[in-house]
Amino acid sequence: MNIKPLDILSKYYGYTSFRSGQEEIINSIINKKDVIAIMPTGGGKSICYQIPALILEGITIVISPLISLMKDQVDALKTVGIDATFINSSLGAKEFNDVIENIKNDKYKIIYVAPERLDTFEFVEIIKSKNISQVAVDEAHCVSQWGHDFRVSYTRINSFINSLDNRPIVTAFTATASNEVRLDIIKILSLKDPDSYITGFDRENLSINIVKSSNKNRYLLEYVQNHKDESGIIYAATRKEVENIYEGLLKRNVSVQRYHAGLSQEIRKSNQEEFINDSINIMVATNAFGMGIDKPNVRWVIHYNMPQSIENYYQEIGRAGRDGEKSECVLLFAPGDIHIQKYLIDIGIENPQRKLFQHKKLQSMVDLVYSNDCYRKSILSYFGETINDNCDNCSNCLNEGEIVDKTLDAQKVISCIARMKRSYGINMIVDVLRGSKNKKVLEFKFDSLSTYGIMKDYSSEDLKTFINTLVSHGFLDLVETLGFKGSYPTIRLNELSADVIKGNLKVEFKEVVVTKAL
Ligand code: ADP
Repeated sequence: MNIKPLDILSKYYGYTSFRSGQEEIINSIINKKDVIAIMPTGGGKSICYQIPALILEGITIVISPLISLMKDQVDALKTVGIDATFINSSLGAKEFNDVIENIKNDKYKIIYVAPERLDTFEFVEIIKSKNISQVAVDEAHCVSQWGHDFRVSYTRINSFINSLDNRPIVTAFTATASNEVRLDIIKILSLKDPDSYITGFDRENLSINIVKSSNKNRYLLEYVQNHKDESGIIYAATRKEVENIYEGLLKRNVSVQRYHAGLSQEIRKSNQEEFINDSINIMVATNAFGMGIDKPNVRWVIHYNMPQSIENYYQEIGRAGRDGEKSECVLLFAPGDIHIQKYLIDIGIENPQRKLFQHKKLQSMVDLVYSNDCYRKSILSYFGETINDNCDNCSNCLNEGEIVDKTLDAQKVISCIARMKRSYGINMIVDVLRGSKNKKVLEFKFDSLSTYGIMKDYSSEDLKTFINTLVSHGFLDLVETLGFKGSYPTIRLNELSADVIKGNLKVEFKEVVVTKAL
């Protein structure tokens, strides 16, 4: 029998062509290779393991933590004539026994299993007697402590696989692309020389707009007034902020709901359903909202605060435009957002090493915000995917600023940092450059440095932005340093700083035309 993946795609799913990467992934799997595939949410991962499941002899087991979605996924498969089932805690004893009986009788090609069920005795026993061709691990980042959603139950997947007499092909799928997480997945799931794919991150229908130094509330209100008949999500960093925005919009008769971990599970569920059913248009939420949400017509996503990492940001804006229609993503940035996210990391329950890692990711997000390059290109390159052309659809590409030579100002900053000898945080450097009489500045005798006060003409905010932009472009390093009271970021010189000082390297930025506060 020689069934082609493309035939299955059209016969069962009714699609005429594969999305980028899908066919290659499917071919690797049917050629019996382990695979790790990193594709964004909505990128079409399911088809990548489902089509091989139909081609390979035997059963495919799909491990997924999204219990609430399993039934829908299985129903969708059954509707198109694919024999599938699921096993999770929502099954009663009778249903469970029926499923086991049907597995015995080879009724299924695909079985979705929650990771917690993998050590259920009856299940493991029956599975051991069957030919398991593929174990597909969905949301595979859950195995990694570096991921944002570590689950202990995922660490047992490997021993489950090892308990099978014949090792199946093991495939791992996630939308989280950081290198650490990828290497962890390969190690913890013991993938054998896997084919690695990072693909489909580019979402051309999303425009990316990062708005700095505007009045956030005014912008938000005006935006919502102009888009209140469309489906949209407003993400804020804290529950309190979600509540404030929600109350504010409710007062203005906007069709809105809210979602955060401080609400009971029933309320969260019903609010979410209202949004999914289009009973309300706008959801205000913390990042607790959205995992596994497949609502096609979300036209816009506004971030009221900068998220903690590019992964989070991209996953959250990825909930817009899943139907492929043009959709808008606006990030409202104020420097205070950096402090909020730092604070949230610092009060978190993670261990110190993990916190340093989170700070590093936060810094990449900050660098993105301050970058003058095409945002889409920068984000994709963060995920390991390269595009050649600028997108012409983000606020950096569309900003008609001019390229301005900032070498002299950069040299002033760098030589001041060099003269301050030890590493300091950005505020201290700004104080010295602006000639502040701050107690610490005087105590350290920085007022005697030749660079004291040489950038007086900058406002403190603008100078901070300038230094952050230097960091973002790699002319300076920002290093998270562990001190007595937790970690704090200090600015250090690097090789590029040396080149700038020697006059070997020009610093050119696109001068930001300040976006008109709407
Ligand atoms: P993910 O698991 O990566 O978040 P899904 O597998 O749920 O994404 O796919 C998202 C949507 O894209 C689904 O509605 C799916 O049917 C659709 N899709 C997947 N592959 C294709 C394709 N080749 N052509 C058209 N639509 C597709």
